[in-house]
Amino acid sequence: MSAQAASPNGVILPGATLGVMGGGQLGRMFVHAAQSMGYNTAVLDADATSPAGLVSHQHIRSDYLDDAGLAQLAQVSAAITTEFENVPAAALTQLAQTRPVAPAGEAVAICQDRALEKAHFVACGVACAPHALIETPEQLAAVGDDLLPGILKTARLGYDGKGQIRVKTRAELIAAWDELKHVGCVLEKMLPLAYEVSVIVARGRDGQIVHFPLQQNLHRDGILAVTTVPSPAVSAEVSEQAYASAHAIAASMNYVGVLCIEFFVLQDGRIVANEMAPRPHNSGHHTIDACDVSQFELQVRAMTGLPLVAPVLHSPCHMLNLLGDLWFAAGSQQQTEPDWAAVLALSGTHLHLYGKAEARKGRKMGHLTVTGPTADAARTVALQAAAILGIEAF
Ligand code: ATP
Ligand code: MG
Repeated sequence: MSAQAASPNGVILPGATLGVMGGGQLGRMFVHAAQSMGYNTAVLDADATSPAGLVSHQHIRSDYLDDAGLAQLAQVSAAITTEFENVPAAALTQLAQTRPVAPAGEAVAICQDRALEKAHFVACGVACAPHALIETPEQLAAVGDDLLPGILKTARLGYDGKGQIRVKTRAELIAAWDELKHVGCVLEKMLPLAYEVSVIVARGRDGQIVHFPLQQNLHRDGILAVTTVPSPAVSAEVSEQAYASAHAIAASMNYVGVLCIEFFVLQDGRIVANEMAPRPHNSGHHTIDACDVSQFELQVRAMTGLPLVAPVLHSPCHMLNLLGDLWFAAGSQQQTEPDWAAVLALSGTHLHLYGKAEARKGRKMGHLTVTGPTADAARTVALQAAAILGIEAF
């Protein structure tokens, strides 16, 4: 049970303790994967009831920038990863002084800032939405009309559509920047989307990269609602372009770990990168039940130096996000448990709940993956499950 159990070639072997910054559902699924491979786990999260903290061998209850908490995590962990995009990059850099940290603080810092992220895409030769950085009133005034209608997004700390305002006119843009309290923003041109996809890659310390088959994502109110794999819409040409872009983006950051890149496919067939996340991603949750190796297992393999293998999708599937809204009947404030028994009576349903006691509107409480022998069969059952749960058909 030594924190430093490592083989002569630097591989951190089962029996060691793996640390994770953040205790949300992504951390919980990482902990599950690590534990099933024989690792012990340590979670750093201030919340006593965090989803990952509840299932981890150790739970260090401290803030991300608390020196004592970080020192404790480093002391007990043979290697450290992150599950939360907004963990301060400086904390990861500090941990890296004494322990292998994957992904590195430098890579996370790029993903945390939409302006740096877009500059990185462009440097990799990957197209992204036309955009302008707005940090000063002068930059606001200089915005070209060609970027309207657009979406004003805070450069940092946005998620699930939070920190974003859609603007049609210059007056609306000015009002939106006021509403966002003049923090640094990126204005993106509103693009005519045909559909959205994402690619998840894992890259090892030795530079080896593997990717999952691309998934198609449906968002509602800025939040991922449904992921479908294989993507019913994508052409072989567009998916090859997405894989090549994702590999280039990861390799040029010298990235180690799991990285997700979201793309827009436009109505004219072009593909542009939207944003990336330096960790497993909500659009990859189906990999637990529909692939021979999950995104969380690849996170474990990448951080420990174990071999990466190209994942295979063994079942077509749909992943439905289970938001807190499902716990409330229309017009009611009373929290009631959805009818899981009815859902689990359908064949091919895999229920994942994150152990969050309180349901709130828009809060990710869990997900349901529906696998089937064919894409049509999976879709039929997924629609039945959606109807039972009160999720709008897709
Ligand atoms: P998350 O981190 O949860 O993925 P986010 O809050 O970072 O989301 P984005 O991915 O930037 O937000 O945007 C959320 C959704 O809004 C996109 O998935 C897409 O549906 C829509 N959207 C964002 N930017 C554009 C754009 N430039 N043109 C058209 N639609 C857009
Ligand atoms: Mg997004």
